[in-house]
Amino acid sequence: MPDFDAIIIGTGQAGPSLAFRLAGAGMKVAVVESHLVGGTCVNTGCTPTKALVASAYAARIARRAAEYGVVIAGDIGIDMRRVKARKDAIVAASRNGLTSALENAASITLYRGHARFASSQAVEIAGERLRAGRIFINVGGRALVPPMPGINEVPYLTNSSMMDVDFLPRHLIIVGGSYIGLEFGQMYRRFGSQVTIIEMAPRLVRHEDEDVSAAIKDIVEREGVDVRLNAECISLVKRGDEIVAKVDCTAGAPKVAGSHLLLAVGRRPNTDDLDLEKAGVRCDERGYIVVETSCKPLRRAFRRSGTATARAPSLTPRTTISRSSRRIYSTTIRAGSASASPPMPFILAAARNSGRRVLAGERPMTRVARAVEKGETQGFMRILVDGDSKEILGASLLGTGCDEAVHAILDLMYAKAPYTVMQRAMHIHPTVSELLPTVLGDLKPVS
Ligand SMILES: Cc1cc2nc3c(=O)[nH]c(=O)nc-3n(C[C@H](O)[C@H](O)[C@H](O)COP(=O)(O)OP(=O)(O)OC[C@H]3O[C@@H](n4cnc5c(N)ncnc54)[C@H](O)[C@@H]3O)c2cc1C
Repeated sequence: MPDFDAIIIGTGQAGPSLAFRLAGAGMKVAVVESHLVGGTCVNTGCTPTKALVASAYAARIARRAAEYGVVIAGDIGIDMRRVKARKDAIVAASRNGLTSALENAASITLYRGHARFASSQAVEIAGERLRAGRIFINVGGRALVPPMPGINEVPYLTNSSMMDVDFLPRHLIIVGGSYIGLEFGQMYRRFGSQVTIIEMAPRLVRHEDEDVSAAIKDIVEREGVDVRLNAECISLVKRGDEIVAKVDCTAGAPKVAGSHLLLAVGRRPNTDDLDLEKAGVRCDERGYIVVETSCKPLRRAFRRSGTATARAPSLTPRTTISRSSRRIYSTTIRAGSASASPPMPFILAAARNSGRRVLAGERPMTRVARAVEKGETQGFMRILVDGDSKEILGASLLGTGCDEAVHAILDLMYAKAPYTVMQRAMHIHPTVSELLPTVLGDLKPVS
């Protein structure tokens, strides 16, 4: 029976880097992975979707070539097999690099198989029992399949099975109008599919400000994506080769018939098949691990990280442990980005209803030289500050280059520096970031 100082279940964002750090500190570590090394981000999430988004962007630019004075003779064609092959190569490079790093690290043993707890200090993998003083849970999540009427009668895709698609769906119906649904929707529209996004809420990406949601809707609709909001009662039926989604929307036809269906309605944690009860670990009603802050022995024995943790936002930076340096995990600064185009990074503002004197600066991308030069003027930049403390409270950026520019704001927030530091800075021209000081120079009260 092998004995380890630590067992890490799952090789997602935190698992491997934690393993390297523990091994570096002289510990003997077992890492267990039931499926693909690298987890969601590397295999079915961030990396492959951004590779696909890049292909879709190339298709979009090729179609717009004439606007830039570039002449392309003949039609623009999309070879979905090559699109997938490119994506697969990028993913494989990342996964293989991580796999060999784990396999070749002294003091780390990589086990392939599904881990289940046998007790608070032991897990079982295909009949083999491993013991350790510390067990780290990094099991992540998978696509949520909601119990909507008819779901078991129709074929459906998730972000994972979408990775095997090497053809162009004639009409892709996407249930879910948040980041994942939007990324796939815009991407497949750009590849040439007809796309309908069905969203239960009255607007897309509902945690964004209303005008951001409206701008996003406008952008995807202009590209030809059909958006159906307020779809409170969705049911599904198979009709010949088609999948029919019955939608109870306030506007539009009551049915949408398509060739393929993608579910993008959220994630659920992979905690239901871990036998957590044998280890005394408790989950909430949605399956997220509850952290027993008062139970010290439990806390000593277990560590958990990543998506499976209660209320962890489902984004990679929140689920990562830095391999080499100690990064600060801020529980107050919540930032993320969707990488549809234009990118839409956000830093969630603690401003609303806070009683603070909130000021906002704003600029449309039509007044950002870099965006005009690139021919990508959709969206706007908005920064919120506290008029008294001069603290930056948050930002909504929607525009080309904004997924990079947002970090200037984020760094200032981590430094707890007043916005005036950036307001007085001289940024490089021509960039999107160069307008951030200008935005901060024109602040107005927010009601
Ligand atoms: C389509 C899509 C696009 C995304 N794009 C972005 C993005 O652009 N930016 C961003 O920040 N985030 C993005 N995310 C979110 C990001 O992928 C996740 O936040 C991140 O991968 C979560 O990491 P994790 O380590 O918690 O879990 P995971 O990456 O899911 O890793 C968990 C691992 O544990 C393994 N495992 C589970 N149970 C067991 C078991 N019992 N035994 C052994 N192994 C087990 C799994 O096989 C998996 O490999 C995206 C997600 C999706 C779905």
